Amino acid sequence: MSFAQQLLERIARDGAISVADYMEACNTHYYATRDPFGGTGDFITAPEISQIFGELVGAWLAECWLQLGSPEAVLCEAGPGRGTLMQDILRATARVPQFHARIRIRMIETSPVLQALQQRTLRSAHHDIAWQQNFTDLPSLPLLLVANEFFDALPIHHFLPDGSERTISLRNGTLCWTESALPVQETSPLSCNIMASIASHIRQQGGAALVIDYGYEHPPAERTIDTLQALRHHRYVDPLHSPGDADLTAHVNFGALAQAASGVQIWPVITQGDFLRRLGAELRATALCKQAPQEQRHKILSGLERLISPQAMGTLFKVLAITSSLEKPAGF
Ligand code: SAH
Repeated sequence: MSFAQQLLERIARDGAISVADYMEACNTHYYATRDPFGGTGDFITAPEISQIFGELVGAWLAECWLQLGSPEAVLCEAGPGRGTLMQDILRATARVPQFHARIRIRMIETSPVLQALQQRTLRSAHHDIAWQQNFTDLPSLPLLLVANEFFDALPIHHFLPDGSERTISLRNGTLCWTESALPVQETSPLSCNIMASIASHIRQQGGAALVIDYGYEHPPAERTIDTLQALRHHRYVDPLHSPGDADLTAHVNFGALAQAASGVQIWPVITQGDFLRRLGAELRATALCKQAPQEQRHKILSGLERLISPQAMGTLFKVLAITSSLEKPAGF
């Protein structure tokens, strides 16, 4: 029986499900059964667009590590996709004295398919890499963490004006919204819990975390917010169509994430465009172009443009940094 059929049976048997349960079930199936990235997949992410992204994130993390006093530390990535970001981080930091020798790498990944892909990508990239499914049991060491397009995949809840939860049910054998009435309020308690545990680790052991994703810092004033979306073959589709075969995401509420991070330094949220530009993205692109054959230059420059331009990812994507007591981290 297909995943979609199982889901319909579950709803027929147990009744309507919350948006969060729907998103959790669909995304678990979705990520467990495919490599969704790139031209032949459903969507593309910053590390897959340009190596400059991972290189600058690597420089940022290494700079925080130096500020921490170059300790033994755990370098952790949440939701590492194909492993490209970690690969670029490691290549960019290979010449930072002692950095590779003093870090242990922990990859947080629930999908067995993607974990296998990451293991192939990173096979010879570092001597100490391990995979785990959640944030508990990280080594008790200062933490350097990056999460790119991780939080947008975590389940959200929708609440109706009367305080009840919006649900998804069946009508004539197809999925539909039980309550079509809007406005809804969107929350992601799982995202906030994960952020709180990252902050708690940093509070106790020191460290820095970088969250990059699309989203907003303040919910729109009019209270109505429904950012649930589904992507399939690079097109937006109805989130209730093709359950488990489209990427379900929601915009990240950076204000809520920052609030969940208590007892650490929270740096004002900036746009991805500003972050990458301030870390030298344009200079890096120029250097890459100088070494590249003519036919690759266009790809380097269009990749950069996609990452930083306000018409592409530059403004919609935001960057939140939390740290233990450090000087201002690079770019903030
Ligand atoms: N960071 C990558 C991939 C983003 S896609 C990139 O930028 O290319 C989301 C990633 O998070 C996938 O690797 C997916 O399998 C993983 N993921 C989704 N939900 C998760 C969860 N609850 N816990 C851990 N990983 C999760």
